[in-house]
Amino acid sequence: MRHSTSLDPRDWVAMRAQAHAMLDDMLDHLSGIAQGPVWRPAPSAVREAFREALPARPTPLHAAHERFMTQILPYSVGNTHPRFMGWVHGGGTVEGMLAEMLAAGLNANCGGRDHMPIEVERQVVRWMRELFGFPDTAQGLLVTGSSMANLIGTVVARTHALGVRSRQAGVSNPGRPLVAYTSQAAHGCISQAMEITGLGSDFLRRIPVNARHEIDTRALAAAIEADLASGMHPFLVVGTAGTVDTGAVDDLAGLADIAARHGMWFHVDGALGALGMMAAELAPRFAGIERADSLALDFHKWGQVPYDAGCILVRDGNHQLDAFAAPAAYLARESRGLAAGGPWPCDLGPDLSRGFRALKVWFTFMTQGTERLGAAMAGTCALARRMAARIQAEPELELLAPVSLNVVCFRYRCEDADNVNRRIIADLHESGIAVPSRTTLAGRVAIRAAIVNHRTSAPDTDALLDATLAFGREHAHVRHFEPAIP
Ligand SMILES: *Cc1c(COP(=O)(O)O)cnc(C)c1O
Repeated sequence: MRHSTSLDPRDWVAMRAQAHAMLDDMLDHLSGIAQGPVWRPAPSAVREAFREALPARPTPLHAAHERFMTQILPYSVGNTHPRFMGWVHGGGTVEGMLAEMLAAGLNANCGGRDHMPIEVERQVVRWMRELFGFPDTAQGLLVTGSSMANLIGTVVARTHALGVRSRQAGVSNPGRPLVAYTSQAAHGCISQAMEITGLGSDFLRRIPVNARHEIDTRALAAAIEADLASGMHPFLVVGTAGTVDTGAVDDLAGLADIAARHGMWFHVDGALGALGMMAAELAPRFAGIERADSLALDFHKWGQVPYDAGCILVRDGNHQLDAFAAPAAYLARESRGLAAGGPWPCDLGPDLSRGFRALKVWFTFMTQGTERLGAAMAGTCALARRMAARIQAEPELELLAPVSLNVVCFRYRCEDADNVNRRIIADLHESGIAVPSRTTLAGRVAIRAAIVNHRTSAPDTDALLDATLAFGREHAHVRHFEPAIP
């Protein structure tokens, strides 16, 4: 008898039938997604079920799948649902899901070596180069998301400013610390990147925004002058193409001018908005993005690619190699065989082993095309404008920020509005009707609807506003007494 420790199926015929059933369940789920609640909390019995001990003995695949269907799938985050507008989460595509399965089947390690999965990633990076008008010298990498892409951009900018020697000598720049600039509306990961790179978030200047929530470029220029005058080393300007709170797009051309004037690195955080370049009507909003030294963007948001998939693009790829490649390994690469084909992705970022993220991007872009993807993005902006118009027409509602792209910030008008609106958001979540999120604008609690999912349509945004009005009326008529502290 053949003795084997292989983990492959004993019975491929049964496996095939089980695989078909699993695929059918997921397609049924996605095709009926709008019928269920957006979100529901996982009951404690379900959570308890996941405190079991490490399994020594095998469980049949059908039993594991049964648990997925009953204990995981119904209690997921809900961003595939058309009435999920809480955070900037994409809706995903069926093609992307299937690609993810194929990629896992290949089990390619995209850290390096000479094989087609890496060529697919290079193709996706070249597509981004083309979309954003970057030159042929540009390099890039698919990463988990824009938090990582912004970190890599900061590392490349830092190494460029201090010289490659700083990789060994360290980043302290005695007497002349590096200073970076971004707006007060920038994502928290920019500040975190300053911390992780050892530059310190105290050396990130958060420049005020104007009435449109875009960086105030005059205040930026003044802050740079002041730092130069006190002997600091301004090295990096980070612009945002779609802020997380309101969807505002900074004056990217203005930022490119300021960065060029001072020989500074210009990085754009395009996590939320950059892929809007695919829509002809949105592209002019991003004028100046083609001048960035580096650009972070997310495929898993507006690009609708399943999680996780972000991208860093660097205008002069040599700077990215300078920051990450280990010259001893990189220069000693083979010129023939499977170990050839450099530079490898591991020369451009911190990961060695990397999955085949590019396949789900490639499948999504190939099967949808940029025109349809762009139309879906422009559609979410049209919905946001429609929603804003209704908010402005409803006396009980108040619009709290101008609508720039696909994010709408509003609230129910009443006494004690901060607390009432927090309750409304929780009620909306728990009712399963719709999921918005909360943000604070000028010290006031706002209900924030980020319309990212391609499945969202006008009845969905109407349902959110109808339910907001209903819950708001309920709370505004109930006085909430705080228990007296003895
Ligand atoms: C989402 C987002 C990020 C972080 O990106 P992840 O993909 O979640 O890591 C950064 N900046 C902005 C503007 C974002 O919207």
